[in-house]
Amino acid sequence: MRIKVLGCSGGVGPGLRTTSLLLDEEILIDAGTGIGDLTLSQQRRIRHVFLTHCHLDHVCGLAFMADNLFDLIDEPIAVHASRETLQTLREHVFNWKIWPDFSVLPDENNPLLRWNEVAMDEKLELGDGRRITPFRVLHTVPANGYAIEGRSGTFAFTGDTYADDALWHFLNGLPRLDKLMIEIAFPDKEAALGYASKHFTPDLLGRELRKLEHRPKLYLTHHKPGTEASIERECRQALRGWEYAHLKRGDTISLS
Ligand SMILES: [Zn+2]
Ligand SMILES: [Zn+2]
Repeated sequence: MRIKVLGCSGGVGPGLRTTSLLLDEEILIDAGTGIGDLTLSQQRRIRHVFLTHCHLDHVCGLAFMADNLFDLIDEPIAVHASRETLQTLREHVFNWKIWPDFSVLPDENNPLLRWNEVAMDEKLELGDGRRITPFRVLHTVPANGYAIEGRSGTFAFTGDTYADDALWHFLNGLPRLDKLMIEIAFPDKEAALGYASKHFTPDLLGRELRKLEHRPKLYLTHHKPGTEASIERECRQALRGWEYAHLKRGDTISLS
């Protein structure tokens, strides 16, 4: 199982792309601006898109990818997300005003996108021994993360999230957890903004991690552009004792 980081920043700028992960060439987890680095033939291979929530930095690439692939694919791309996320996308993005409704284009029987509502804590088979489970997280809008179990280990991605016992309860319930991708959007001095926007800061994440019974390698993501150096400095203290890395666009996370 191989996860390529197409984007993992909290914003855009030179070399920065927003959240999108490519799992084994045919599955996307979130569809931020990171998908803009995929060639057209790579985009044609995508069969599934799993979304964590409806915020623009996680979904905008889906609109452009659908437009790119018009008339180029025979089977619809399955877009998996919670009921609330799908509803928001359909009402506010793919609504013929912001963007065409690609779930009825080129025609209703042969659409480009097929919406698939996922249920929290219910496993979906991905083939090749891989299974994905959505789990609820706390954010300003309904949001979820995904745990992906493969033959050689388990990777979990929280998406945008904040301190919440339900998150740790779910992760502690996994039989194993080898790698955890989790967000830190702001440095500690912006803890009030983190609380308001439901994003982690280093000190809060360090304290919350005491509730985690597994000891995964941590992959830190979603740093707001311009705050990277402060967050890295604060993590040296807040995450002392943890194995961790600050993710960058182009990094690969392997489970083997
Ligand atoms: Zn968000
Ligand atoms: Zn975000």
